[in-house]
Amino acid sequence: MDSVIDVQQLEYRYPGATTAAVRGVSFAVRPGEVFGLLGPSGAGKSTLQKVLTRQHRRIAGGSVTVLGKPIGAWGQDFYERIGVGFELPNHFPRLTAGENLDFFASLYTRPTRGPRELLELVGLERHLGTRVSEFSKGMMMRLNFVRAIMHDPELLFLDEPTSGLDPVNAAHVKALVRALQREGKTVVLTTHNMTDVDELCERVGFMVAGEMKTLDDKQALKARYGRRELVVEHGAGAAPRRSTFPLEGLHADAGFQALLKEGQLRTLHSQEATLDRVFAAVTGTALTGGEVTS
Ligand code: ADP
Repeated sequence: MDSVIDVQQLEYRYPGATTAAVRGVSFAVRPGEVFGLLGPSGAGKSTLQKVLTRQHRRIAGGSVTVLGKPIGAWGQDFYERIGVGFELPNHFPRLTAGENLDFFASLYTRPTRGPRELLELVGLERHLGTRVSEFSKGMMMRLNFVRAIMHDPELLFLDEPTSGLDPVNAAHVKALVRALQREGKTVVLTTHNMTDVDELCERVGFMVAGEMKTLDDKQALKARYGRRELVVEHGAGAAPRRSTFPLEGLHADAGFQALLKEGQLRTLHSQEATLDRVFAAVTGTALTGGEVTS
């Protein structure tokens, strides 16, 4: 299989809506990659995910192939092959974590991992018998994550998987995603957390107003949107002054040399593009006069 997901010219329109929520979107997700699906709120990411997971079935145009079959040709067996971990968990609050996992396991014909083993993966083993109504948001997210992987799906959709987690648990979940990738699974990750994207994804697609505006290798995007500059904070007073110098020819820059001699440098920051900057530049969320504000 060349691609796990292949989307061509997809159009999706909500009933009664004047404009399509997803318009002319084409892209492919390769086997074994963690693909980042990014974009501001309202861009169409959830709609796209819902089409890809067969929750929205009446597409207005284009074609969608997932795991080698047109999406419309799949039946219930589709859910044996994919895992879905979306942001709003849907558990039975009055049942325990273990009972919830047992219930969801019963929906699969495939073998599933046991509740204890799953909860151990995310440090919740002590909560096997805890009612889900007593879970914090972070605990729910972790429960949601293991529920999505209990049947060993080859394609996993994750929406904000580290939302509400402390740094230790977030790192833990990311390590699990990397482990899944090493096993050859494919992941579509939707998030606003650029650190997660930086740590997990190779290629990222940015949706803006229903379209896939940019799709590229993360490093290529960083290079394209980076600034070869050094920002220097300097001065003796309470409020430091800021100066910006191009990296090219910095060693011979008279202004920079003067600052060095002054001996009042406070901080030095090179301006390679972060994914936040790429996001701002691609989506236009922080653009003023062609410059990205930071
Ligand atoms: P994102 O996930 O990127 O925040 P969405 O896919 O939720 O974006 O939304 C894309 C567009 O579709 C928005 O304009 C939103 O208002 C609209 N939309 C989302 N869900 C519905 C719905 N159930 N009915 C009508 N319009 C919707």
